[in-house]
Amino acid sequence: MLIVMKHNAAPEQIEVVVRTIREMGYDARPIPGGQRTAVGLIGNDGRVDSARIEGLEGVLEVIPVTQPYKQVSREWREDDTIVRLPNGTTVGGSEVAVMAGPCAVEGESQILDIAHQLREMGATVLRGGAFKPRTSPYSFQGLGLEGLELLARAREATGLAVVTEALDADTATAVAEYADIVQIGARNMQNYPLLRRAGQLGKPVLLKRGMSATIDELLLAAEYVLAEGNDDVILCERGVRGFDTHTRNILDLTAIPVVQALSHLPIIADPSHGTGVRSKVTPMARAAVAAGADGIIVEVHQDPPRAASDGAQSLYPAQFAELMAQIRTIARSIGRELSAPLSEVGIR
Ligand code: PEP
Ligand code: MN
Repeated sequence: MLIVMKHNAAPEQIEVVVRTIREMGYDARPIPGGQRTAVGLIGNDGRVDSARIEGLEGVLEVIPVTQPYKQVSREWREDDTIVRLPNGTTVGGSEVAVMAGPCAVEGESQILDIAHQLREMGATVLRGGAFKPRTSPYSFQGLGLEGLELLARAREATGLAVVTEALDADTATAVAEYADIVQIGARNMQNYPLLRRAGQLGKPVLLKRGMSATIDELLLAAEYVLAEGNDDVILCERGVRGFDTHTRNILDLTAIPVVQALSHLPIIADPSHGTGVRSKVTPMARAAVAAGADGIIVEVHQDPPRAASDGAQSLYPAQFAELMAQIRTIARSIGRELSAPLSEVGIR
């Protein structure tokens, strides 16, 4: 439930609303806005008797939040959430953010070399897994802490922001120390202790859609992060399980406008995991930007056949450069711009 205060409501009146909600056994979260303050009532799963609150001074109206997710919903917040990264990149709003890099960090020269290339081609966020969720326990599991160190070195050298996955609550703190965005992978979308932990880390979270999760389940997973006080969540459509074997997953581009109607959170697309096939990545990246995605996250490797993981879906750098040129035009055609390249805004 959302309690909207009159625009001239006094701080004491807001305080009385907060206190009343707490007396009723719920949690109150003041949400200051440009025009007026609202107070969110959380902790209820069903109906709340609003009469007591409606009668308080300074209250304009009480709006029930009809969705099962509350703070994530557009009913709760009308304006788009814009996630701001330390290097100036914004996710949400009018920019289209481009995150790119290898599936996994494999070594110092690999990550530094690709980071420099990606920066020159206009990406502003570097992706790369240090802790990898692999289907087989015998596959490369990532470099762990060393991988995090290497990502930090790549950020230092290029100015790219870093997004990397936290696989479990134990290593999440270390990941958050190094990352600018903490990724929660598809396999962990409903790992509730990890989601709660992610809400406490003080870093933006990239939450990927589970491979058989509904959109409501994705939004409820995001609610766990917001419920811990972290509003900086970027959702990611990365494909869902289908029955056709020509692609690894079905990239559900409809999820982009659906989520944008239901939630104020930004949503990006991952055409790499969404297709699993290099030749299909560029067309689906173009389509994602055309569909209104707030960004894309793409796997790029200098030598895909030798990549430690996901080589088959990794673009060659030259293909990525072409993709950038194409999506720049597509973004402009719908009134958006790619994030300004770091070289243009003077970030080393
Ligand atoms: C990844 O980003 O490398 C990854 C493992 O993604 P997902 O969780 O979407 O499979
Ligand atoms: Mn991958």
